[in-house]
Amino acid sequence: MPGIYIHIPFCKQKCTYCDFTSFPNRLNFAEAYMACVYKEMELRGKELEKEVFDTVYIGGGTPSVIDPNYLCGGVRQAKKQFHLTESPEITVEMNPGTVNEKKIAAYKSVGVNRFSVGLQTAIDEQLRELGRIHTARDYLYCASLLKGENFSADMMLGLRGQTKEDVRKTVELIAGSGASHVSAYALTPEDGTPIYTQYLNGELPDEDEVAELYEYARRLLEKEGYRRYEVSNFARTGCESRHNLNYWRRGEYIGFGVSASSFFYGRRFTNTFDLDEYIKCILSGFLPVVDNEEVTGEDAKFELVMLALRTAEGLSAEKYKKTFGTDWREDFRDPYKKTEKYLSTEGDRTFIKPEYLFVQNQILIEYAK
Ligand code: SF4
Repeated sequence: MPGIYIHIPFCKQKCTYCDFTSFPNRLNFAEAYMACVYKEMELRGKELEKEVFDTVYIGGGTPSVIDPNYLCGGVRQAKKQFHLTESPEITVEMNPGTVNEKKIAAYKSVGVNRFSVGLQTAIDEQLRELGRIHTARDYLYCASLLKGENFSADMMLGLRGQTKEDVRKTVELIAGSGASHVSAYALTPEDGTPIYTQYLNGELPDEDEVAELYEYARRLLEKEGYRRYEVSNFARTGCESRHNLNYWRRGEYIGFGVSASSFFYGRRFTNTFDLDEYIKCILSGFLPVVDNEEVTGEDAKFELVMLALRTAEGLSAEKYKKTFGTDWREDFRDPYKKTEKYLSTEGDRTFIKPEYLFVQNQILIEYAK
């Protein structure tokens, strides 16, 4: 079932590894920006009036940095302009340095029922080096406010000087705080970010070291009762992110706000990355789309295979056949042969063997050729 994504591009300061669309010095634009997001939803409402949406995901940036009234207005507008299921999953991303009781109560009052908290690491020195605005203690405070709620914590692997002991402390902090879901990502040093210099200087753990840290984290997380359902995502039973599962199942979604991307009616499209242009466009009554392409044929097939093989549930041969009318093993005969030793098949589903899931990129590259 389709999902709704709302992008909030404001942050207190820029993290050293960040290449997301976020503007640290433009918080004073939040009110005008959110008014444009509401307007964008209205502009899309008509064309999607027959659709029923199962999830709303408010990501960023740092959604929790803006006045909660603006954010709650976004949820209300989503409910007004679109048909949602009876119990939609509504998620807000939060930075532990920007939360308080009042904000969380406001989110809950409009139906937010899932929270995604960016911890990254339990080691304060590493948080400082990443340019994060919070400490491990702030995370604990945030988690205490979320007691009994369905919330996820993000952690990063591959930080400078990160040891297995650091990973263990992070997993223990998360598990002890009551999180129902964990996203464990490998740090990607993007060109143009401050951390890229550390990468060029050889100061970051290499691929093998990151793989070892990941494997260690995976074992600890599974011991704590989190089941891996996608390469970077772990959840207690029933707490998987419905919004993200929809992405990996190549489901449809509509994105609002600067840089938001969408996939609907066979087309992928993206909004402008420029905040001023976004606002100007909406105020002139236009959709701020800068990139719009139909995904057909081989590209669509590749997308379905690539996304499905990232997940533990894997690729359903029947779903593929139903979608494209062909057999996926026939369509991808050569790559399938080359990668067969890394794959397992159970009934209708084919998936990457658990021990190779972390290196799925190297396997999936064969399918892109
Ligand atoms: S909080 Fe997130 S979006 Fe904002 S600068 Fe840091 S990594 Fe980027």
